[in-house]
Amino acid sequence: MTERDPNCLFCRIVVGEIPSDRLLEDDRVVVFRDVNPQAPTHILAIPRVHVPSAAELTDEDGDLIAALFGALRAVAEDAGLHDYRIVTNVGAGAGQSVFHLHFHLLAGRRLTWPPG
Ligand code: AMP
Repeated sequence: MTERDPNCLFCRIVVGEIPSDRLLEDDRVVVFRDVNPQAPTHILAIPRVHVPSAAELTDEDGDLIAALFGALRAVAEDAGLHDYRIVTNVGAGAGQSVFHLHFHLLAGRRLTWPPG
C-alpha cells in the first residue's frame, strides 16, 4: 500500500485535484457520486490511501475495510435506502477500470442477478 499515486485518478480526487460530488469523508475514506451512474443512486467509497484493488488488501486492513463499509452504511441510511448492492471489481476482466480500491453502492432500480 502506498499513501498516494500521483497518476491515479482516485488519488487525485482524494486530494481535490479532480472535483467530485462528495457525500461523506473522514480521515480514512471518501464517498462521492459516480460520474457515470449505472442506477439512480450510484456511489463510490474509496480509501484515502492508494490500494490498487481488493486483491491487495491484507490482514492489517481490517479497520480500513470497516471504515469503508461504515461510510457506505451511513450514506445509505441518510438516503433512506433499504435495498442496495455493494460491489467491487478486481481486474480488468471483471470490469475494473480505475485501479484504486472502490466499492460501488447501487440503488434505486431493480437489480438483477447474476450481474453482467
Ligand atoms: P470500475 O470500472 O469498477 O473500476 O469503476 C470505476 C468507476 O469510476 C466507474 O463506475 C466510473 O464511472 C467511475 N468514475 C470514473 N471517473 C470518475 C470521476 N472523475 N468521478 C466519479 N466517478 C468516476
